[in-house]
Amino acid sequence: MSYREIHELFVVCDECHTSLSVDDATYEDADNEAVDHGWQYDELQGRHYCPLHWHVECHDCDITDSGAPDELEADGWHIDRDYPDDSLCPNHLHLSCRECRKWDVGPLHRLEYEGWQVNSIDPNASLCPECAKTKKETK
Ligand SMILES: [Zn+2]
Ligand SMILES: [Zn+2]
Ligand SMILES: [Zn+2]
Repeated sequence: MSYREIHELFVVCDECHTSLSVDDATYEDADNEAVDHGWQYDELQGRHYCPLHWHVECHDCDITDSGAPDELEADGWHIDRDYPDDSLCPNHLHLSCRECRKWDVGPLHRLEYEGWQVNSIDPNASLCPECAKTKKETK
């Protein structure tokens, strides 16, 4: 009698059960391979999510959402692609002042109302209300 055994491993999305074939990779390689294919691997919970079903959590208010990262970003999420649990929901923007390193987190309209000058390309190069004021006065 002859046998032929084929070992094949799949990474499965915990949301929609789509599977990704990773041939005969080890579990660890499988996780890396999945990430290379745009999957999210939640190391803490050992879950995998396909590119359409990332799970993100707001670092500041614990709101969670799921979906394709690009779509979530279009909705206003600020996604930390390495640590999706450290993302920021559309209500929470993290700004740092490029002059004095002060930072704040909150809804954009509140921050702007308080006087922050928001740098939309790099929120960490924004100006806090005090520095924005000083800038104006020295001009
Ligand atoms: Zn999925
Ligand atoms: Zn939030
Ligand atoms: Zn400042």
